[in-house]
Amino acid sequence: MAAKRDYYEVLGVERNAGDADLKKAYRKLALQFHPDRNPGDQKAEEKFKEAAEAYEVLRDANKRQIYDQYGHQGLEGSGFSGFGGFEDIFSSFGDIFEDFFGFGGGRRSRSRANRGADLRYDMQLTFMEAVFGTEKEIDVEKAEACTACEGSGAEPGTGVETCSQCGGSGQVGRSQGFFTVRTTCSHCRGQGQVISNPCKTCRGHGKVLAHKKVSVRIPAGVDNGSRLRLTGEGEAGVYGGPHGDLYVFIHAEAHDFFKRDDTSVLCQIPLSFVQATLGDTITIPTLNGESELKIPKGTQPGDNFRLRGEGIPSLRNGHRGDQIVQVNVKTPTNLNKKQVTILKEFASLEERKFTSKLKTILKSGPSRVAN
Ligand SMILES: [Zn+2]
Ligand SMILES: [Zn+2]
Repeated sequence: MAAKRDYYEVLGVERNAGDADLKKAYRKLALQFHPDRNPGDQKAEEKFKEAAEAYEVLRDANKRQIYDQYGHQGLEGSGFSGFGGFEDIFSSFGDIFEDFFGFGGGRRSRSRANRGADLRYDMQLTFMEAVFGTEKEIDVEKAEACTACEGSGAEPGTGVETCSQCGGSGQVGRSQGFFTVRTTCSHCRGQGQVISNPCKTCRGHGKVLAHKKVSVRIPAGVDNGSRLRLTGEGEAGVYGGPHGDLYVFIHAEAHDFFKRDDTSVLCQIPLSFVQATLGDTITIPTLNGESELKIPKGTQPGDNFRLRGEGIPSLRNGHRGDQIVQVNVKTPTNLNKKQVTILKEFASLEERKFTSKLKTILKSGPSRVAN
């Protein structure tokens, strides 16, 4: 670990700086390096913590005296170890952040109301449901506002009371030297309010676990990994806070015949070598039923044909992609005698054609070499 910087240097103040100068210097740095203004910035985080530590020591007469006399080591010897994290800093200096930034610790809401949790639901769809979209009713188990107490957590007829320990501020002061350090009130856990007569139905939580049927419209063209967000269908908020959201994750099954590639649908069709050689018109399955496809003569194994607009609708604009048909030429097996005879005759003709072609090549060969 790097050596600690001098606290006066950290805050940029003179060694005889008074309380007001310290506060002013610290506010300036805290504002500059506040984590909400520098999200994910490690350096800013370090600076923010360094400034908080320097201020914590110098504003405290006892600590400052020890530091002035014995330095960092003297403080460590007295049991001071700085801050564990942001929460520590905010709870110690909450008042400073509040009157300076105007939003308390900048992290924690003063209100008891909190937004409910988001939920995840994994939905299995058939290949065709994903392609054409569907509507499903799902059963979601989630925390809902308790109907008995309407989410307040207090037994009906009784109320929520202001915390007597902190007077509703959620924080209590603890004096340290000449100063007062404010920490989260342990009686109300910083909520500022307490329920002395908790609701019997929800035991004061304000929420109960419930099953809810939710209708989900699945748009055409969703695929594996698609995620749908249903705003407000998550868990109920705490004490009247807004609901969270429900995220539906799509898992689409594979198909025996069709394969997906974005908005294209691919398939393989077997062709006899006679069909491939002489050409043919065949009927092939499509997502909507079937379609005729003209196979030209002389089609080779692996050739592709495209059926425009027979693919999968795009989630973005609804335009359908194409169906791509790949032909798979089959070599015939189990031939009968007559077929064998015919094929042999065919082969001998092919051979004659090939031999005469070869002769032409051989004849022209030497002259070409001579060139
Ligand atoms: Zn209740
Ligand atoms: Zn309290």
